[in-house]
Amino acid sequence: MALMTAYRLVEWGHSPEYVDVEVPKPGPGEVLVKMAAAGICGSDLHLTSAPKGVFPIDPPFTLGHENAGWVADRGLGATRFELGSAVLASSATSCGQCEQCLEGWDNYCWHTVNMSTRMMSMRVRGIGNDGGLAEYVVVPERELVPLGTLAPERAAPLADAGATSYHAVRTILAALRPGSTVAVIGAGGLGSYAIQYLRLLSPAHVIAVDKLPHRLDYARALGAEKTFLSNEQTAADILAAYEGMHAVIDFCGSEETLTLANTIVRPRGHIVVPGITFSTVPFGWGTSAAGCQMNLSLGFTLQDLNEVVRLAREDRIRIDTEAFSFQHIDAAFNALREGRLKGRAVISIS
Ligand SMILES: [Zn+2]
Ligand SMILES: [Zn+2]
Repeated sequence: MALMTAYRLVEWGHSPEYVDVEVPKPGPGEVLVKMAAAGICGSDLHLTSAPKGVFPIDPPFTLGHENAGWVADRGLGATRFELGSAVLASSATSCGQCEQCLEGWDNYCWHTVNMSTRMMSMRVRGIGNDGGLAEYVVVPERELVPLGTLAPERAAPLADAGATSYHAVRTILAALRPGSTVAVIGAGGLGSYAIQYLRLLSPAHVIAVDKLPHRLDYARALGAEKTFLSNEQTAADILAAYEGMHAVIDFCGSEETLTLANTIVRPRGHIVVPGITFSTVPFGWGTSAAGCQMNLSLGFTLQDLNEVVRLAREDRIRIDTEAFSFQHIDAAFNALREGRLKGRAVISIS
């Protein structure tokens, strides 16, 4: 039996560990991916510091949900990719056959719905199921996107940060007109991509809100026309500069930022909340704008992933990364935790 080293969450509330596990075998329709690079995400920090009971899943599992690599083996009937071709893996699993999947909304696959908690299941690669911080990961072939000539270490952050933000932007694109205004709250790993997509794909004026001044500098470099430091004055400052926002994308999802979104959105405007934080805010007459829509935007579809890879291949988006070795994943976690990263932390695996 062949073994490989995997970086695993073994127990809630304990630091992840390097563990030798069996190399997985691809089943029918599945592909064995030799990992090249995995991005590290803020949700990995939540996962590795959370006590038992916060997430509806159980360790042990291998971390890593922004995974890119090369096709190393193929299960029965998995003929879509040549051996050795570069691929990007979606972290989410979907059935491809339910009503949601067939309509192209595989991020809301009916098989992942839990009607009693109002949440989707958390069993994704790297969160509950084995992810890509290992030498190999198994992925159904329909959940892989071809990278062509795009380098896996550049593509890895697209598999969550780049695609989740793209999906959030796509939900409001059709509503944006010349002169429309959009506020991006949280200009970090996801928000920085949203600013780029809005500038690239819409005629809207884009502003950014963040707590950290260096992130606002970055937001302006990416095309935000105005930026606002997050404090108790922010709503008043934005309303003084603009007559409200046609859309607000809140990547923080805290009570404070949701309240800000509710305060600055125009009548018939859109609030999009991709950040899953379990914070809530009153939504109704008297507190929210008339005609306003709120969208709890979850993850991304396979089509989104394919489209962001295309934008990256055409060199139309900026992807800033900082590389760390597989032996020093802890250093990447520390840099992320301490806000020291200048781009997405990406672990080089081979
Ligand atoms: Zn993530
Ligand atoms: Zn489905």
